[in-house]
Amino acid sequence: MSQLANDCFALPPGVYWTPVDDALAILRDRLNPVVGVETCLTADADGRVLARDHFAPRANPPGANTAIDGYGFALGTLSPGAQDLPLVAGRAAAGAPFEGVVPPGHAVRILTGALVPAGVDTVVMQEDCELAEGRITFPGLPKLGANTRKAGEDVPADARVLPGGHVLRPPDLALLSAVGCATVEVFRPLRVGVLSTGDELCAPGADPDPARTYDANRPMLLALAARWGYVPVDLGHVGDDRAVLRARLDSAQADVVLTSGGASAGEEDHVSALLQKAGAMQAWRIALKPGRPLALGLWNGMPVFGLPGNPVAALVCALIFARPTLSLLAGSGWRAPVGFDMPAAFAKRKKAGRREYLRARIVDGQIETFASEGSGRISGLSWADGLVELSEPAQEVRPGDRVRFLPYGGFGF
Ligand code: AMP
Ligand code: MG
Repeated sequence: MSQLANDCFALPPGVYWTPVDDALAILRDRLNPVVGVETCLTADADGRVLARDHFAPRANPPGANTAIDGYGFALGTLSPGAQDLPLVAGRAAAGAPFEGVVPPGHAVRILTGALVPAGVDTVVMQEDCELAEGRITFPGLPKLGANTRKAGEDVPADARVLPGGHVLRPPDLALLSAVGCATVEVFRPLRVGVLSTGDELCAPGADPDPARTYDANRPMLLALAARWGYVPVDLGHVGDDRAVLRARLDSAQADVVLTSGGASAGEEDHVSALLQKAGAMQAWRIALKPGRPLALGLWNGMPVFGLPGNPVAALVCALIFARPTLSLLAGSGWRAPVGFDMPAAFAKRKKAGRREYLRARIVDGQIETFASEGSGRISGLSWADGLVELSEPAQEVRPGDRVRFLPYGGFGF
């Protein structure tokens, strides 16, 4: 955890429209985790971010054991061919080992998960044996070591089981528990403040006046923060009033703030104006559709992401810029979205110079795009299951061409 530099969002001078990848590189290179470390029970750690490498206190399996129910013996003392072996008294079961030594030429009853007894190196499956009068017979010898597991063959003691920065998932809790990590050191969850700005906004349904806009971004951004495993902090709504905005940012109990609206350079764009005045704000003009104005700054050392007000642009900028950045701030490293190439069901011509994201979904193995590219079409965000990414060069997509599809799932929701 260290302080962010005041000029961490500065763009190279003289650049007018910043390419998406250049903007992403700046964020990736200049930011670092901003959260402290705490200890947490492994059983409660799903979704948490490991703060350091974790090592195995004990091997898995901790001792040689058996993979099946059957009979164990020492293979080397037997001659090849059909076998007829006396059984020793007693048995080996999981958690209840056979305490003695199995003499050469004898076999012992053994159950799945039991430690391999002394004098045993090989196990034959019970289904392959006939049992009668304290003896087993079976038609031929298996390979040396058959149906046994070596100590540490899965994870040796002291091996690194998971790296720092890893976001824990249910199977990871199994692994950590199996090797004896009852607790883990994790980053404190990132607190993500979400603030809507604009005089025109009101709560959904509060005022039917068509001049009012219902606040659509705040529930979306708070829900994204929660899906990403952060603590969503609702900072409410402020009108276009710098003093109120300043007070709201001053009192924010958050590690990072996502604002929406007011991010461009217009006279009502108070987020950018205020951050600019505070001395650490950069207005980013990004060669991106939809999106473009993105204001980035530090408010008393706390990063502020000024997302566009338009919900379509706000979502795209949140997914493309805020998601990897929040991941870095939270200690889980930079995250590129997951995507794959699929045939287009649509035609589209685009100019050179900026990257475009289209609302899209998979239908019958092909990618369909939403009927309108209008950035006011919020219904398209909900219709879609992901985004098509069209890179900067001019291009003409024809039906059947392969295009890059970034499913919402690859953005973590
Ligand atoms: P702005 O970025 O403030 O110029 O806003 C661009 C457009 O997005 C305007 O039509 C705003 O009314 C609209 N807008 C801003 N914030 C929100 C919001 N939280 N929910 C829905 N629309 C918004
Ligand atoms: Mg506005």
